[in-house]
Amino acid sequence: MRPSYRKTYATINLDALEHNVRTLYNYHQKNLIAVIKANAYGHGDIMVARHLESLGITMCAVATLDEAINLRLNGIKMDILCMGYVEAMDVSLASEHNITLTLVSLDWIQKLQGYQIDGLRVHLKIDTGMNRLGIKEIDQVYEALELADSLKCNVEGIYTHFASSDDPMSPQTAKQYESFNTLLESLHRDFKWIHSANSGAVVNFPTPNCNAVRIGLSLYGYSEYPVDLKPVMTLYASLLDIKSVKAGESVGYGANYIASKDELIGTIGIGYADGIHRDIQGYHCSINGIDCEYVGRICMDLSLIRLDKKYPIGTLVEIMGDKVNPKDIATFMGTIVYELLAQLNGRIPRIYLQNNEEIAYINPRYPSPTPIYHKAR
Ligand SMILES: *Cc1c(COP(=O)(O)O)cnc(C)c1O
Repeated sequence: MRPSYRKTYATINLDALEHNVRTLYNYHQKNLIAVIKANAYGHGDIMVARHLESLGITMCAVATLDEAINLRLNGIKMDILCMGYVEAMDVSLASEHNITLTLVSLDWIQKLQGYQIDGLRVHLKIDTGMNRLGIKEIDQVYEALELADSLKCNVEGIYTHFASSDDPMSPQTAKQYESFNTLLESLHRDFKWIHSANSGAVVNFPTPNCNAVRIGLSLYGYSEYPVDLKPVMTLYASLLDIKSVKAGESVGYGANYIASKDELIGTIGIGYADGIHRDIQGYHCSINGIDCEYVGRICMDLSLIRLDKKYPIGTLVEIMGDKVNPKDIATFMGTIVYELLAQLNGRIPRIYLQNNEEIAYINPRYPSPTPIYHKAR
């Protein structure tokens, strides 16, 4: 079986992932909590988790209970921290699957009264400046811990989240870290896991009082800082048709682009239903290192690009990767790499490479039991 019957796919280079894990370790020298929420930032959470396990990583983090349980059902054994909000009625289910939850607020732990949650593993989240999830008031921290203890929760960890760590000039990170430490000291309590650094902080802001880092984006090869990281994903579509258009002819929906001279327009097999937002119009993809501009509106399943010459039908076009840096695409579109990657959806098969060999692929549209197909099997 082929990974898909459409020649549009992303390759996920597991060796690059391993390189990034090792490179980042040189900076933090702590335990890694690998953030693999949102389908591992579009890279495929199951295969990424499996590979991280093979590298000896012992904890990953996701945003939702669905993500966490799905990983368990696919055989992931390492600790899974759910960083998001889990409804009280679902907490025992999380426990059954040995998912570690986040104590996000006093209200949350209060709502657990009356449920059987003996031994539930939790990390207490402290809000030091995001003003999002986490407990902000010290009195509430004490009250929440007392309640967690009385409910026989296992409070294994404590963490906070930085709001501005991607900006080395921002004084906010140091301020947040300081208030986190002050609170930690005042608790006189041991935690197995203490963590604060995300990708921005991991290379730029040391957190000596923490024993773990909680990083996502940099694992996949992107950083705001000069670190030797390798992008893990390359996204391809293929050239499906070529049209010669005369000067003055329009291209695509709404006749939104008018050729200024005689031009060659290529049709490629990727569109906004794959997660390539219409705002990419005006930017470029790459054919053998030649930039080709997206012209006309991005369609649901197809896009139109201006070619410098005729290429054979079926030629692979790089949408993002070595030749087309996702960070540049994101900047052009007025967004961030996080969003660009997270939008790439299940219509794009992921092909996993190790030692330059295809070892597995995922196409969620292929039938169960599991959407992962290992070439070797
Ligand atoms: C997404 C997320 C992270 C990872 O952030 P990166 O910038 O991708 O390293 C860490 N902590 C929390 C709470 C998150 O939501």
